[in-house]
Amino acid sequence: MSSSHILKKDHLIPLLRKLGKAYRLVAPMQNRHGDTLFAEVASVETMALDLDHQPQESLKPFLFPQQEVIAAYEADQAGYALHPRYAAPPPTLYFGVRSCDLAAILYMDVIFSQRTREPHYLGRRHNTVLVGLNCNAPFPNCFCDATKNGPFSELGADLQLTDLGDRFLVTAGRAQGETIVSRWPQFFSAAEEAEIKKQYQLYLEARGGFQRQVHVDLAIRRLAEGMVDEAVWQQLSLRCQDCAGCAYVCPTCTCFTIVDQPRSATSGERLRCWDACTFAGFTRMAGGHNPVEPKKAAIKHRFLHKLKYDVEKHGRPSCVGCGRCLDICFGGTDIARFVELASEE
Ligand code: SF4
Ligand code: SF4
Repeated sequence: MSSSHILKKDHLIPLLRKLGKAYRLVAPMQNRHGDTLFAEVASVETMALDLDHQPQESLKPFLFPQQEVIAAYEADQAGYALHPRYAAPPPTLYFGVRSCDLAAILYMDVIFSQRTREPHYLGRRHNTVLVGLNCNAPFPNCFCDATKNGPFSELGADLQLTDLGDRFLVTAGRAQGETIVSRWPQFFSAAEEAEIKKQYQLYLEARGGFQRQVHVDLAIRRLAEGMVDEAVWQQLSLRCQDCAGCAYVCPTCTCFTIVDQPRSATSGERLRCWDACTFAGFTRMAGGHNPVEPKKAAIKHRFLHKLKYDVEKHGRPSCVGCGRCLDICFGGTDIARFVELASEE
């Protein structure tokens, strides 16, 4: 059962100061180039907190780094030994996480828990507190309403904030959120009925504020019925430049590869690095042979994975509608473009 509280905006920095002493604090901040990115807060006093723009990346790089050492290896005359590397992560509080990114974390939880439980991601995840922020005004390329992940959601958040103007309505949906409220009660007061009604009004306004209509359900249906013409994939593949920007910014793309990096003649490190199905070498085999037509198969796999395979496997698409691939793809080969082409009769 969730409980609702009020946090006045005057109390936000003092609360973050306290939280910063209890946790490693990560929040969306504007860097010196004007980009908004999640980053570790070095000082609450000087942080350039930015809750007005969508962070260009999700929390994926924090929970599933682009490159990480998972083992060290050494060889001698007796053979080859592999030593797993694992560093216990510090308790980390992520502040200002949007609904789409919360949904993406729940998706990654499933991916890294199935078959074998993956210790690196899950270790970080278990030491994580999530403070979400509902979107009163969807960003220009967002379509989380079409994937049923936003613009308001409490799923996955320990505390969820809604901006009511001079205050936040704070919903504590999980035990860790309740612990924060009870540990620092001086910053919170009970929410009144009018404030809860105002949140609902803001939710209705946000639902009406999407600038993009992306018919995800229709594309899912047409894929399931095998009604998407091969010409669609052909058209998209002609414009894809294999840069993998879409997969790198996507909060639910979790492909990786393993490489061994020698550090000396007899030792080295085993790294796990992000990979992407849109890279030309993704399906290339040793010797250079590629069993599929790389470009067309790559873009097809990307969208089938998100809108067909994951729907069959998990009952919902793994696109959360964050819009980041629309922002980054210079070829106009983003998922909204695919949905548009797939939806045409
Ligand atoms: S779809 Fe766009 S962002 Fe993705 S690899 Fe192709 S060109 Fe790059
Ligand atoms: S496919 Fe595009 S819109 Fe969907 S979750 Fe990934 S980056 Fe966001």
